[in-house]
Amino acid sequence: MADNHATLTPAPRLAALIGACEKLCEAECCGVHAFDFSPVHVASHLSAYTGNIREADVVELRGELRDLMRAAEAIPDGWMIGVAGMNQYFKLEELRALAADVGRCLDLAPAVREHADQLWAKGTS
Ligand SMILES: [Zn+2]
Repeated sequence: MADNHATLTPAPRLAALIGACEKLCEAECCGVHAFDFSPVHVASHLSAYTGNIREADVVELRGELRDLMRAAEAIPDGWMIGVAGMNQYFKLEELRALAADVGRCLDLAPAVREHADQLWAKGTS
């Protein structure tokens, strides 16, 4: 029996966030290992152009992440799930873990930005 695969396409904001975390290599080369889902990169991406993180952006991204996972949960059991732009197929539980990591990054990003700004304002020793 051939493995079944389905590929999901993240909504635009989530796709941009995923792209912003493609820091370790390129997806075409390393798949998921090209990505560094760190709150540092998420905070940097979310505060680009404005210098601060808008709660509305975080809320929208959470919604897009939820939509992606809803689509993933609807895929038949045992299928491998691809995410467009990542060049990687995941088992459902792997994708759940990744989505949880991205969700944690979204939770932490505002505090990361604030802390970085505080460190900067204090100056260097
Ligand atoms: Zn690589």
